[in-house]
Amino acid sequence: MTATRLMVWIDQDLCTGDGICEEIAPDVFVGRDDGLWVVKEEAKHFGTGIVFDDGKGDGHGPEGSRGVARVPDALIEDVIESAEECPGECIMIEPYNEQIMSDRGV
Ligand code: SF4
Repeated sequence: MTATRLMVWIDQDLCTGDGICEEIAPDVFVGRDDGLWVVKEEAKHFGTGIVFDDGKGDGHGPEGSRGVARVPDALIEDVIESAEECPGECIMIEPYNEQIMSDRGV
């Protein structure tokens, strides 16, 4: 299991849709069909993949503050840089939260 000390989510209400976050950290951020960006966990880091795009079914999770992704420790600097460069100031970084993972059944 990849070590993770931080978690991240995006406030889609503020996202400008420029994609800078994905350019910096493509393993953590991905563009959605509606032109807004969401967070994800890739299987290569966590065993199973999940995209927090409010989609239905396996591999999808809620968007916004309810869709909080783990950040692989190796990508912390990239995610912090993404938040600093984000023109919408909508990338929210938080400490790892055991309760969130418990609620997800992980
Ligand atoms: S950098 Fe910020 S505003 Fe730009 S797409 Fe990513 S989350 Fe949205």
